[in-house]
Amino acid sequence: MNKVHNFSAGPGILPQEVLKQASEACINFDNLNLSLLEISHRSKNYEKVMDEARSIVKELFEVGDDYEVMYLGGGASLQFAMVPYNLLRENGTAAYVNTGVWASKAIKEAKMIGNTKVIASSEDKKFNYIPKGYEIPADADYLHITSNNTIYGTQLHNFPKSSIPLVCDMSSDIFSRKVNAKDFSLIYAGAQKNMGPAGSTMVMVKKDVLGKTGRKMLSMLDYQVHIKGGSMYNTPPVFPIYVTLLTLQWLKKNGGIAWIEGVNNAKAQALYNEIDRNSLFYGTTAVEDRSKMNVCFLLHKPELETEFDKLWKEANISGIRGHRDVGGYRASLYNALPLESVNVLVDVMQHFEKKFGQ
Ligand SMILES: *Cc1c(COP(=O)(O)O)cnc(C)c1O
Repeated sequence: MNKVHNFSAGPGILPQEVLKQASEACINFDNLNLSLLEISHRSKNYEKVMDEARSIVKELFEVGDDYEVMYLGGGASLQFAMVPYNLLRENGTAAYVNTGVWASKAIKEAKMIGNTKVIASSEDKKFNYIPKGYEIPADADYLHITSNNTIYGTQLHNFPKSSIPLVCDMSSDIFSRKVNAKDFSLIYAGAQKNMGPAGSTMVMVKKDVLGKTGRKMLSMLDYQVHIKGGSMYNTPPVFPIYVTLLTLQWLKKNGGIAWIEGVNNAKAQALYNEIDRNSLFYGTTAVEDRSKMNVCFLLHKPELETEFDKLWKEANISGIRGHRDVGGYRASLYNALPLESVNVLVDVMQHFEKKFGQ
């Protein structure tokens, strides 16, 4: 089997060794001669998985017992509703920064729940930059930001300093770089971009922000219910959580965040250097806001697309077609993608220039 260089935007690439371990667990988990898929989530063997999957998040984020970690179903999209439902007081206000499609969807849900103010937006330029220098209302219940905009290829390289609780959708860059997690009151991420497979969503919350809304809470939407139940109030997505644990163990074993940040910087630099150098391509976003996870680029001559597509497909590259909102190309450089794959893409771009540049 030829190695495929997988630049998929999501669900994204996972480490090969994780996929092997995961497939073994489908047949024989923990030497039980049973599949992980056919045992009780309340068995000792699975409880250990859940405990470790929760504690490794706190370890990687370097936070203490004032934080709780949950694994929930429903994707990051359900968190768009659960965040305001759990944090926005009945007469309070929530502040949002609109940096793309996902942020807009989060805003839409928050508006259904209570007063929601969009305090900054980059919609005026098709979300190709990160708004800066905006005022954060001191009396809002929280500020919601999106750390990495998967579709547009922009990323926050500095987080806003705020006196109110900071909430962040980190779906597409969680554990890709060092962040000071203690500055955040709530971090959530659909696992399928950078920390595992689709089906589970990680939510880490500082306990002191909960229980203040004055609202009667539906059980399944109440963080406190899930925390009390150890993410087992209902049957959790057992397999996605297990594969997430394996992926985070892979990260930790190889050197953790400090290691992967170096690798991710090298990958992004190699690809952006080539985009800037190569006469046939250009980047789509403001240079200072470029994402190190999702690199969006276009051809100066779109009529050459078919030729370029032929070349990268021949090189066993997969998943670099751009999102329909941006067009062109998007290479996603998630944690499990090796530098070698980026080098293959850069080679293809150079070869393409030799053939079609003047
Ligand atoms: C993919 C993505 C989402 C949506 O995640 P689902 O798990 O499909 O609901 C939300 N936010 C960001 C930043 C994303 O990249």
